[in-house]
Amino acid sequence: MDLCIIGSGYVGLVSGACFAEVGHHVVCVDNDPRKVEMLQRGEIPIYEPGLEDIVHRNVSAKRLRFTTSTEDGVDSSQIVFIAVPTPPQPDGSVDLSFIERVAREIAGVLKPGEYRVVVDKSTVPVKTGEKVADTIKRYNKQATFDVVSNPEFLREGCAVSDLMNPDRVVIGSSSQKATDLMKQVYEPFRAPILVTDVNSAELIKHAANSFLSLKISYINAVSAICEASGADVELVADGIGTDRRIGRNFLNAGLGYGGSCFPKDVKAFIAISKQLGVPFHLLEEVEKINGQMLTRFIDKVRSKLWVLQDKKIAVWGMTFKPDTDDVRNSVAIELINRLVAEGAQVSAYDPKGAEKAVQWKLIDSAKVRIVANPLEAVQDAEALLLATEWSEFAAQDLEEVRKRMHTPLVFDGRNLFDPQMMADLGFEYHAVGRPGR
Ligand code: NAD
Repeated sequence: MDLCIIGSGYVGLVSGACFAEVGHHVVCVDNDPRKVEMLQRGEIPIYEPGLEDIVHRNVSAKRLRFTTSTEDGVDSSQIVFIAVPTPPQPDGSVDLSFIERVAREIAGVLKPGEYRVVVDKSTVPVKTGEKVADTIKRYNKQATFDVVSNPEFLREGCAVSDLMNPDRVVIGSSSQKATDLMKQVYEPFRAPILVTDVNSAELIKHAANSFLSLKISYINAVSAICEASGADVELVADGIGTDRRIGRNFLNAGLGYGGSCFPKDVKAFIAISKQLGVPFHLLEEVEKINGQMLTRFIDKVRSKLWVLQDKKIAVWGMTFKPDTDDVRNSVAIELINRLVAEGAQVSAYDPKGAEKAVQWKLIDSAKVRIVANPLEAVQDAEALLLATEWSEFAAQDLEEVRKRMHTPLVFDGRNLFDPQMMADLGFEYHAVGRPGR
């Protein structure tokens, strides 16, 4: 099939590449000319395992191309996916201006009599599909189209594999013609397809991300009780997670959730529920618990180092999760900034995220020493803080780490290491919700 994706970021680019991989012809549109030029030169603007190969292979096979022209994309495709940002506004509600603008742009280039399916893949509040349809109709009275909601559930860090093997595909549609075309798009993926109305599909995405955030906050609240009682949150998580009704995924205690999706989607769901007159107070508590985790962690560091000013602190990790270069809304970045604000001398290392953290000015590179490897970060450090659970950190020579440190004090914000092993190696080790050994 001929497909167009408007917005070639984490979702649009990976979706476009995966659609091409299963045989569709895909044109990815982006209004950032530098991004499109990079892609046209064969450079990949984001780090995502497996993405580079799949893009190169499909560009060579002439199934994937890039353009800045929405008209080109819409003209040459039966189905037009929207994958532009939906950032939060200061009050937590969703800024839909990117979506509205794309709807107008599509309206401007739709030709009379040429039917198109307009698919919203961005995460949007319930009832956005209706607004997209109204907008297109308002700006193009002759357009023949249907609007479909097809929320995306990929996880950064394993986005290619998530897209190639989805748990399910949700298609929210009120038109049989559009539904049939969407089923054809996804037929090669051999995944369960759930067809719903548009509103339900939109709501599924916010409800799913909010539920996952709730699971994280739940285990984090349990971790505080473990710390107060001497129990071990990892054992508690195993004990409850092996119950199939609960499941072990997303029961990892730590610094809390971050990234470009969970914080904004929880905030959005709170705002949506309020707007609809049915406030979802449980999610306010989820947010509150999440916010407390970093404060509790820094309090722990302070309880050992007393005053943080002038202390040499190593931070491992800047991305919001491993295997990505995405540092948007990363708790690790907030940790670094809070340490710097207290006058600590921070040496930070991340396998993929440092460049974007500096480029996007999320950290002040004049105040943070960014180093090229984990061992350089810990040289003479008075404490090591682990903020992102990259496997590279688990594979470090910890004897060497201890030798290089001024004081062998480790605060593990992601429970990556085994407390007994760390004690045996001579570290004073503090995890989240786990007793020391
Ligand atoms: P992103 O910022 O990585 O990419 C968005 C792209 O859209 C950018 O390249 C931007 O230049 C482009 N763009 C903006 N306006 C445009 C326009 N008018 N025309 C053409 N291109 C335009 O964002 P993302 O992370 O891919 O997220 C996109 C949407 O998908 C959001 O709603 C997000 O909530 C949702 N989502 C994200 C993830 C994730 O893990 N990143 C997962 C599921 C859903």
